Amino acid sequence: MSDCIFCKIINKEIPSKIIYEDAICLAFLDISPATKGHTLVIPKKHYQNFLDIDSDTLQHITTITQKLAKKILRNVDAKGCNILTNTGLEAGQTVFHFHIHIIPRFNEKDPVTLSLVDNSNIYDIEEVYQLIQK
Ligand code: AMP
Ligand code: ZN
Repeated sequence: MSDCIFCKIINKEIPSKIIYEDAICLAFLDISPATKGHTLVIPKKHYQNFLDIDSDTLQHITTITQKLAKKILRNVDAKGCNILTNTGLEAGQTVFHFHIHIIPRFNEKDPVTLSLVDNSNIYDIEEVYQLIQK
């Protein structure tokens, strides 16, 4: 038996609102939704995060995420969505079983704080460009 909460959801040891399932992945409603229809898409095999998952599984999950996002947005009448995956504790990852968030968006006043801050006054873009190309 796994200690991982998402493995428990896959094994049906704890309940969830499953909206899609196949041999490779599962999608279910987030228990603490940021917006109406907030969904998580996960692989059935346990991978820690985006950096850990094998590329074939990632490709499958990405394709399913796109299909589900279209369906969810249509059914909750959302205008857009954020598709994101937090990778590592420092990035806000709290469950260490890879998952993609589908967060429907209705208008710019949605009660979510996902906007990126412009920190170009702190980071020298040329310096970072050289660093990343090493
Ligand atoms: P993250 O912070 O990116 O790791 O996201 C983890 C997400 O999992 C959060 O949005 C939680 O609300 C969600 N979550 C945690 N436990 C459950 C659960 N039992 N069922 C559904 N969603 C969950
Ligand atoms: Zn797991």
